[in-house]
Amino acid sequence: MTDLTSMTIAEARAGLAKKSFTARELTDAHLAAIEAARALNAYVLETPDLAREMAAEADARIAKGEGGPLAGIPLGIKDLFATRDIRTTACSKILGNFIPPYESTITSQLWRDGAVLLGKLNNDEFAMGSSNETSCFGPVTNPWRREGSNTTLVPGGSSGGSASAVAAQLCMGATATDTGGSIRQPAAFTATVGIKPTYGRCSRWGIVAFASSLDQAGPIARDVRDTAILMRSMAGHDPKDTTSVDIAVPDYEAAVGKSVKGMKIGIPKEYRLDGMPAEIEKLWSDGAAWLKAAGAELVEVSLPHTKYALPAYYIVAPAEASSNLARYDGVRYGLREQAKNIIEMYENTRAEGFGAEVRRRVLIGTYVLSAGYYDAYYLRAQKVRTLIKKDFEDCFAKGVTAILTPATPSAAFGVGEKGDDPVEMYLNDIFTVTVNMAGLPGIAVPAGMDAQGLPLGLQLIGRAFDEETLFSLGGVIEQAAGRFTPPKWW
Ligand code: GLN
Repeated sequence: MTDLTSMTIAEARAGLAKKSFTARELTDAHLAAIEAARALNAYVLETPDLAREMAAEADARIAKGEGGPLAGIPLGIKDLFATRDIRTTACSKILGNFIPPYESTITSQLWRDGAVLLGKLNNDEFAMGSSNETSCFGPVTNPWRREGSNTTLVPGGSSGGSASAVAAQLCMGATATDTGGSIRQPAAFTATVGIKPTYGRCSRWGIVAFASSLDQAGPIARDVRDTAILMRSMAGHDPKDTTSVDIAVPDYEAAVGKSVKGMKIGIPKEYRLDGMPAEIEKLWSDGAAWLKAAGAELVEVSLPHTKYALPAYYIVAPAEASSNLARYDGVRYGLREQAKNIIEMYENTRAEGFGAEVRRRVLIGTYVLSAGYYDAYYLRAQKVRTLIKKDFEDCFAKGVTAILTPATPSAAFGVGEKGDDPVEMYLNDIFTVTVNMAGLPGIAVPAGMDAQGLPLGLQLIGRAFDEETLFSLGGVIEQAAGRFTPPKWW
């Protein structure tokens, strides 16, 4: 029998339809792979009994010809998504053993379509981080290693568990969320594909909030087609999220393989950083050449406010986070520390429950929102945000279809390598935060390797609600670059 964990979702779908194997067999193969890969720390909770039950149900539905678009496809779910009766922690001690009495809209859509839950995936605490090192469950290991080295590398963050599990074939696809790059950066670090949809495309209901005006969920999978397949189930209007937009969800899969002839692709000159590694430069020009060969026209564009994006993001995101995280006070959810009075109880619970990075964000956020500093920091950052958005609008108004950039300024780094200076970690987001600030869709696609044999990714940024074009362009990059699978050592 074919190796059931190395297939794509599209291949598994075909195999299930032809009855080459059952959903139960597919799930069992993944459960065995998870068991053998605990060293990666990708899962924070495994749900094998439920997975087998869901798989059996999928088999029954397939037999009756009623299998949905994801019937029997085993997935991992980032621990930021509320799953009914299944522990959901956002990888924070403060949520402790929180068991939600409800299901997030996105996961309920995946189950509606027949997918199988394998378990909950590790992430940075409250999705704050770029390396998955802030999780209360400890760091996730990237299945990729530098050639000839056994240094443990991070899978990126905050969706590090999702990216690592997909790359190591511990699930066929995963949910993820992206506030400043948390889908695209881990995808780039693990040679997986990840798309952050347009703000409003997917419901945020039932996802633990980080920065509500920037948060957006999306899939990570092993190729562009699979990402498109998952996205179709995840997207759609939800009256329970007032920022979700009521427009039809296209057949994203149909966009994969479509011609990109005549598309105008912008290369933003401000993304060419001083001291950018030559490998990233080369990756970027390779990507441009591949798109050109497929009939696209490459043009230089300018996004003049790019340099302000990162500082503005690190005001807006902590400001919203400090407000969102006010609800974790020991009264309603999870952890409660003992104390003499309620104020002390709040203080003790929050001091004990939040990790260092989360505390830093709450402090920064509270500071920039406080009277006297609000205008100087928060309001100013919001104005910068408007200018960043306008940069993109001006560019698209000139007929640009999409923008090509590197996904990250480097390949995956070692665990503990960027621990001392938080700003060094924040710099990881330099190419991705602008997209969240502008609410636009962005896809990261593996495009090459660095000299040490680590994967590198390219990012394509699209017009609002034009994810289809990103799938078409991403497909061209994938075709030209090929696929990348980490050699198995775990
Ligand atoms: N790395 C960024 C941060 O720490 C983005 C995280 C995310 O997208 N959730 O804020």
